[in-house]
This record gives sequence, C-alpha cells and structure tokens, in this order.
Amino acid sequence: MGLSLLKSEIEAIRSRLALNGRAFIDGRFVDAVSGETFGNISPRDGKVIGQVAACDAADVDIAVKAARRAFEAGIWRDQSPKARKKVLQRFADLFEKNMDELAILETLDMGKPIHESRTIDVNVVLDTLQWYAECPDKLYDAIAPTGRDQLAMITREPIGVVAAVVPWNFPMLMAAWKFAPALAMGNSVVLKPAEQSPLTAIRMAELAAEAGIPDGVFNVVPGFGPTAGKALGLHMDVDCLAFTGSGEVGKLFLQYSGQSNMKRVWLECGGKSPNIILDDVPEMRVAAERAATAICFNQGEVCVAPSRLILSERIRDEFLEIVVDTARNIRPGDPLDPETKLGALVESGHRDRVEGYIAKGKAEGATLLLGGDRPEGGAGGYYVNPTIFGDVTNDMTIAREEIFGPVLSAITVANDEEAIRVANDSSYGLAAAVWTRDLSRAHKMARRLRAGTVWVNCYDHGDTTVPFGGFKQSGNGRDKSLHALDKYTELKTTWIEL
Ligand code: NAD
Repeated sequence: MGLSLLKSEIEAIRSRLALNGRAFIDGRFVDAVSGETFGNISPRDGKVIGQVAACDAADVDIAVKAARRAFEAGIWRDQSPKARKKVLQRFADLFEKNMDELAILETLDMGKPIHESRTIDVNVVLDTLQWYAECPDKLYDAIAPTGRDQLAMITREPIGVVAAVVPWNFPMLMAAWKFAPALAMGNSVVLKPAEQSPLTAIRMAELAAEAGIPDGVFNVVPGFGPTAGKALGLHMDVDCLAFTGSGEVGKLFLQYSGQSNMKRVWLECGGKSPNIILDDVPEMRVAAERAATAICFNQGEVCVAPSRLILSERIRDEFLEIVVDTARNIRPGDPLDPETKLGALVESGHRDRVEGYIAKGKAEGATLLLGGDRPEGGAGGYYVNPTIFGDVTNDMTIAREEIFGPVLSAITVANDEEAIRVANDSSYGLAAAVWTRDLSRAHKMARRLRAGTVWVNCYDHGDTTVPFGGFKQSGNGRDKSLHALDKYTELKTTWIEL
C-alpha cells in the first residue's frame, strides 16, 4: 500500500508545512469566540508545535447553526446525486494530491510512525473517500409489496445535522469513516477532533471546501471533550451524533442524548480482543510474529489490538518464545524517521496510564517476559518498550481493561471450550481471531465468538466494503460499507392509495 517517504522528503515537506489550529466554520477559518487557544504538543519530543482554537459551547452553537442553515437551504442535499458524487470525487482527488503532507501532519500530531501514516492511514482514508463518493448515484430506494391498490415507497433521507466526535489514535481515518458516508447522503457535518490531534481534520475541511462542498456543510470545531464535545452531545439541533472513543465517554453521550433531544447516538468504543492460537496453528512463526507486530502496531493504540493472546497449552512455550523474540526487535523511535516501527504514545498522561497497567500486571502476579520500561534517550517524547506478560489469568486487570499501549497479556487454555469461554468473558466484543488449520474447527469457533469481526488465520485485515463495529460495550452501529449509511439516514414510508 502506498509509497513510503525518504528522510529528506519528510524534512523538506515539514519545513514548509502550515500547522493550522483554527476552527473551520461556515466555509472559513475562525478563532474561538472566547479567543482561547491551547498548545498542541507533539508526542515525539514533548514540544509545543502550535496553538489550537479552544472551541466551546458558543462555537459549537455557531457551527451547528451554520450546518442547519446549509441543510435547510438544500445547497448540498438537494444537489443531484451525480453532482454530489462529482464534488466528493474532487475532494478525494485533492486529498490524494496532499497525502504526503497529511501523513506528516498526523505523525507530528499523535506520534505514529511516518511509515504507517504514509503507507496505511492516508491510503485507507483515500479509499474511504473514493468509495463513499461513488454511493450517491448508485443507491436505489424500495417499493413495498403491499398489494395492487396501494403504492408504499420506502425512501432514505439524510438525517440532517450530523456531529462526529473522534479519538486521537487514527484521527483522520476515524473522522473519514463518519463524515464520508454522512456527506454522501446529503447531511451537514460538525466534526470535533480529539484535542491531541486536530491538525488533519482541519486540513481536510479546507480541502473539502476547495473541492466545492458548500459553506456550512462541513465544519470542524477543535476543542476539549468536556466543553466542545459535551456541547455537541447536548445540542438541541444536532440530529445524530457519531462517536468513536472510550466506553466511558460513549456512555456520557447516551446520557447527553437523553438530557437533550433524543439525538441518534452511534458508538464505536474500546476492545480487549482475544487472539486465539489453537494447537494446530498452521504456521506457528507467522502467527507468533503477527501476535507481536499487531500489538505494537500504532503503539498498541488500536481499538482492535490483540491484547489477550489466548494460547493452547501444548504450544505455549514455543509460541511465546517467537513472540518475545519478535517484539524485542521492535524498538521505539522518532516517529518521523521512516525506519521507525514503533512511535510515541500520544501524551505523557497516557504513558503514565500504560505504565500504571504494567505495574498492576506485576503486582497481580503476571510474569513479565519482556519490556515494562522506557527506551534509552527518547528526546523528551513519550516512549515505552514492547511489553509482554505471561501467566496472565483472565480476572487480572491487564486482561480486563483496555491498556491502549504495546502491552500483551498471554493466557493459557487447555481446550477449545476454555478458549471460547475466556475469549467471551469480557465486557467488550469488538474483534477476535482464531488460528487453526482445521476449517470446521475455525467455523465453529467463529460462530461462538461474540465479536463484530472474527479473523481466521490472520489479524487486522479490513476493507471499506465490510462493516466495522462491536458487540456488547464495544459499541453499536457500524462504520464502513453500505451499513454505515443507516446511521446517517432516516427511512420514510410514503403510502399512496391508488
Ligand atoms: P476518549 O473517549 O477519551 O475521547 C474521544 C473523543 O471524545 C475526543 O474527541 C474527546 O475530546 C471527546 N471527549 C472526551 N471527554 C468527553 C466528554 N466528557 N464529553 C464529550 N466528549 C468528550 O477516547 P480517546 O482516548 O481519544 O481514544 C481512545 C479510545 O477510542 C479507546 O477506548 C479506543 O478503543 C477507542 N477507539 C474505538 C474505535 C472503534 O472503531 N471501535 C476506533 C478507534 C478508537
């Protein structure tokens, strides 16, 4: 996927990058009404790289009003499907032209390796934009089989003003998974990026405007959760709120909805995904290396991170040895260095949290097989070494709570039945994997795993064509695929007596 950048290219682009932290409302850049800003800290070295508008309820209200005005005026939703498609295609083209810059912005802002942001993140966002751009003139409505004397039409309509509140781990991708289908269906959008990572959202709004998305249709309000995020959750004129983030904040949005206008709330929350390795794992080295690389991907700050490695006892020792050897060679480093495979955690407070879990793992009796500490140097950035615990039981804190760092908990099981019981014994249900060479064993396990995605003999595969989301407290609704459109549309029945 995509081309990696050379060190010299990164430096050249970075030196001319504009780090714009202003809000984008009603087609133009603005400061917060209060004039307040906050420092944007890069996790690679802990330095302030710019100022960001600290939007609050006043700015959210202006943005929602602009979004509502645009929606009611029909300047976007009433354009022909083909016209909307053309604008969205132009947006995708402009995004593609600026992918080097966007990848660097993302890495500076939240600390993921430039190799990943350039070869994965921007390419997946591009695919998302291109895929949903094609939707407007490909979708058909339906006529119900009511009988010959009636005509009952079932049509989809845009829901109105969609608010999107997103996290910092895949800032541009989580945003695109929401705004691309919402815009395709003719809605207006107000996007609140995470306070740790606002830069790519702001830049994407600028590109959308350049592509021809009318003023007020796509707004970005950077700011903090308890101010800007809460104001969107409680706003009486937001029709739908699409959220990705922690379960704790997801539950707040359900409350905000109940306290305000019963807006639709769609949640994509956390996970504690089981990665089950059965005794007939087809290629042990492949599976073990994947277990190690997948927990280190994006510093482990991944909702579907395979953080519980559930191992058949017959192969445990041999398997863990390869996992530990592989992880030992994944060393944290400057995220802007194209050779780096493991970047910096997003902020110092988050690193403290991850280290707190490591301390708990030790205190509760797990065996530390690798890491648990910080790398040498680090230039003031927020780095931790890959960390692997053995002898974990599923009741330990490190097996129950989402750590969101490169920390793996290995749990041993005696048979398939126990593997399923342990895998499903979690408040989460986002993803799971099972590795076996026996097809019917794989199918039987997959059926019984309570998770939105089950991978067999692979991990972390995905495509815009398939829905993504969770069972249980991992959330509701689905991002990606045509299923995502259900969140941003209302169904209308028009009944005609003939
Ligand atoms: P978070 O819940 O702290 O923040 C997410 C967003 O909510 C941010 O924009 C934040 O500003 C806002 N927010 C925070 N407090 C708020 C409040 N009181 N009221 C309103 N808004 C508030 O999550 P995070 O730390 O940014 O992201 C990590 C979490 O996201 C993890 O739990 C991870 O699993 C989850 N995640 C889930 C998916 C998925 O698709 N299921 C994808 C990526 C991340």
